Amino acid sequence: MLNDYPYLIVGGGMTADAAARAIREADPKAPIGLISAEAHPPYNRPPLSKALWKGDPESSIWRGTDQAGVDLLLGRRVTAIDPAARTVSDHTGQSLRFGKLLLATGGTPRRLSLGTDQVIYYRTYDDYRRLRELAGHDLRFAVIGGGFIGSEIAAALRLQGRTVTMLVPEQGVGARVFPADLSGFVTDYYRGKGVEMRTGEGLASLEQRGGKVVIKTTAGKEFPADVLVAGLGIVPNIETAEHAGLRVDNGIVVDEWLRTTRPEIYAAGDVANFPSAALGRHMRVEHEDAANSMGRAAGLAMAGQGAPYTHLPFFYSDLFELGYEAVGDTDARLETVADWKEPFREGVVYYLEKGRVRGVLLWNAWGQVDHARALIAQPGPFTAADLKGRLPVS
Ligand SMILES: Cc1cc2nc3c(=O)[nH]c(=O)nc-3n(C[C@H](O)[C@H](O)[C@H](O)COP(=O)(O)OP(=O)(O)OC[C@H]3O[C@@H](n4cnc5c(N)ncnc54)[C@H](O)[C@@H]3O)c2cc1C
Repeated sequence: MLNDYPYLIVGGGMTADAAARAIREADPKAPIGLISAEAHPPYNRPPLSKALWKGDPESSIWRGTDQAGVDLLLGRRVTAIDPAARTVSDHTGQSLRFGKLLLATGGTPRRLSLGTDQVIYYRTYDDYRRLRELAGHDLRFAVIGGGFIGSEIAAALRLQGRTVTMLVPEQGVGARVFPADLSGFVTDYYRGKGVEMRTGEGLASLEQRGGKVVIKTTAGKEFPADVLVAGLGIVPNIETAEHAGLRVDNGIVVDEWLRTTRPEIYAAGDVANFPSAALGRHMRVEHEDAANSMGRAAGLAMAGQGAPYTHLPFFYSDLFELGYEAVGDTDARLETVADWKEPFREGVVYYLEKGRVRGVLLWNAWGQVDHARALIAQPGPFTAADLKGRLPVS
């Protein structure tokens, strides 16, 4: 006999946990199944590159999903969905029936061609444990990628006193988000912290030699490392959805109720391409705030208590003692207006398109995310002068 769940969630991340709790709140008794490829129950990912390296205990990351009356079906990867039969099957060949299904499958790190366990693709608790163990040894670390994973991991490893080289194909750290002068400041700041920075240099090839991985760069140089951490971004896990005939386009496409093209199947979190009311277009984000808020919204919608998802998620990151929150479209290719209280230490950067604020970067400026959202909602147009002093920094 097939196990039958009125509510079934595929995925074991923060989105899955938030959805399970919302369903439980709206429907106190119904069975909820959560099937996840990971062997661990849901946990918070952001501390894996931040708080745990600064001394927070590992016990602080667990979300306690088991206490919400959810059947945790762990270590099981869903390989097929049959929307007509309302079943999913996993890699062991077992099937489950569902009433409503949520796909919260997140993403998988982009990989390099060299197959070696000296390369770590940093995403999971197991990745954290492995890198943490290695960081206890006097090894040479290389980090590829100047996005948030690369920059946070380089900082974490330096905090342990390790030798770290960062290879950043762009001109500086965070160059896809930060204006060029801020990116340049952060890059120098990393140098000041003892990270060897190679900017404007991509990865040409990798090989194993004498027990090391040897990194050849696009500048024709090479350097060895014992461990290479690759922060190359993620690819959304859409395969099963695509095979099931659901619409996919940079993620699983959902409507404002977080429904896919099959109304009984929902998607949320890193994997979902959702309509943003504030920006007037579909978007896919990889933010904790989105995992929590969209997971909750999807869970309530599945239990018949939904409302359109109109939240504009924010993102945050810590870079040694620097830190920021960002909301909306913070693409460095947009026109930017910086309003510094103290240059590169505290201030706000606005991202504009035809005079309209599309995104806001709050640099060491806390508690302003809702004000930034309100500004993004305004039609404008704004000039640089209008924006000076618009959001008070602390
Ligand atoms: C190290 C790190 C630090 C981060 N720091 C920040 C931060 O500071 N601020 C911020 O806003 N965001 C941060 N993020 C991003 C944030 O953690 C993600 O946006 C969030 O985890 C997305 O949650 P999710 O549940 O949608 O996806 P995921 O966390 O990717 O979870 C997906 C789950 O689905 C499972 N799965 C996938 N496919 C299948 C399948 N076929 N069958 C069964 N299970 C499957 C996976 O095993 C996994 O358990 C960070 C991410 C990482 C990795």
